[in-house]
Amino acid sequence: MTLYSTSKHAPDVSFRDAVMKGLASDNGLFMPRTFPTLSNTFFKQLPSMSFQDMSFHIAKAFIGDELSDDALRGIIDDVVSFDAPLVELSPTVFALELFHGPTLAFKDFGARFLARVMSYFVAESAQHVLILVATSGDTGSAVAQGFLNVPRVGVVLLYPSRKVSAIQEKQLTTVGGNVVALEVDGTFDDCQRLVKMAFLDAHLSQHALLSSANSINIARLLPQMFYYFRAVSQLQTSLPIAVAVPSGNFGNLTAGLMSKKIGLPISTFIAATNRNDVIPKFLESGAFLARPSVQTISNAMDVGNPSNFARMVELYDSVDAMRQDIFGAAFSDEETKAAIQFIFEHFGYICDPHGAIGWLGLQRFLNTTPAPTIGIFLETAHPAKFLDVVQPLVPTSIDIPSRLQAALDKDKNAIFMPNDFQAFKEFLLTLSKRIA
Ligand SMILES: *Cc1c(COP(=O)(O)O)cnc(C)c1O
Repeated sequence: MTLYSTSKHAPDVSFRDAVMKGLASDNGLFMPRTFPTLSNTFFKQLPSMSFQDMSFHIAKAFIGDELSDDALRGIIDDVVSFDAPLVELSPTVFALELFHGPTLAFKDFGARFLARVMSYFVAESAQHVLILVATSGDTGSAVAQGFLNVPRVGVVLLYPSRKVSAIQEKQLTTVGGNVVALEVDGTFDDCQRLVKMAFLDAHLSQHALLSSANSINIARLLPQMFYYFRAVSQLQTSLPIAVAVPSGNFGNLTAGLMSKKIGLPISTFIAATNRNDVIPKFLESGAFLARPSVQTISNAMDVGNPSNFARMVELYDSVDAMRQDIFGAAFSDEETKAAIQFIFEHFGYICDPHGAIGWLGLQRFLNTTPAPTIGIFLETAHPAKFLDVVQPLVPTSIDIPSRLQAALDKDKNAIFMPNDFQAFKEFLLTLSKRIA
């Protein structure tokens, strides 16, 4: 697999190098040079294939021989160890539940795959690596769980102080082992900026091999295609399929677009956001205007400058072409809360705030399209992760899964970090000396 940088000023790299670097040297994101062709036989067999088998096929088609079949098979079996069920709300509307992994959010797919692929490459070369992760809530714990106790790997999580839910904070700060949590006095965008500056700092890169596990890493995107295939293969419909993706950094949506690009029959994607609506605005006006993020109740999507936009642009020749495939929709916190109530009252289903935005986006799209369409919205997190928001809105008590309760019972362990690159850099230098 050969990858190029979306900024076009860095040389092409192998899959291995793209995974280990995360970000290209010109600050661009890695993108596959060519997209594989999946055979008709593969598509015909999809409905009877296991989730693991289809995932292996898709990963193999992209990665080629850089991992042996046995190694890749082992990684996939390990990563795709829980299902992504389609839950029917009505005969034409389905929730694709992506929260059945260890940290109860869809990021478990990408983070666990990345962690295992990286461990494989690290073990091959006997290097030490520091993984830097800026998180708006869910990435951090998913990545940390994926890398927990992997030899020669240290994980540094940066999260915005007071801007993640109490439960998310517990999940982030109680992992222990080779995982350090930094509570940054700033926003998610500040956390992301500190990480990006670290990668570009020549002095730092002489002292530590830094890598990223954010949705910019290509190994996070690949496994996110698996469940789009899983969902469509379970539907067995000849109607057009629309998939609504509650979005922040737009990794999940980009994986959906890549699935379509290699032949998965999804007619429309809905880019559903909260008030951080840079991409819906872009689809409307054709102008991409990054803004500081604003805080909402769907905080994992509070992103003012979505990184994967650079990849979305690469997939299309023009804004108009993009509009053919992607419908933008943005919603307020009030609309989100009302949707959680409505969905419970009408379908007996409890959505988390992110999934509720997906559902709202799907409804808006279905209302504008005359053709009968099957709609899927991605339910990206378990509602128990957002108990403080969701519980008051539904008249039934939300179950807290035991793996979440275990984190809640531990004490928070985080290092407070000013929003200042020098301080962050010194911390990293000290840490890399300690683990070397
Ligand atoms: C990260 C996250 C999102 C946004 O996903 P992107 O790939 O960044 O667009 C949506 N919902 C939840 C629960 C998340 O954790």
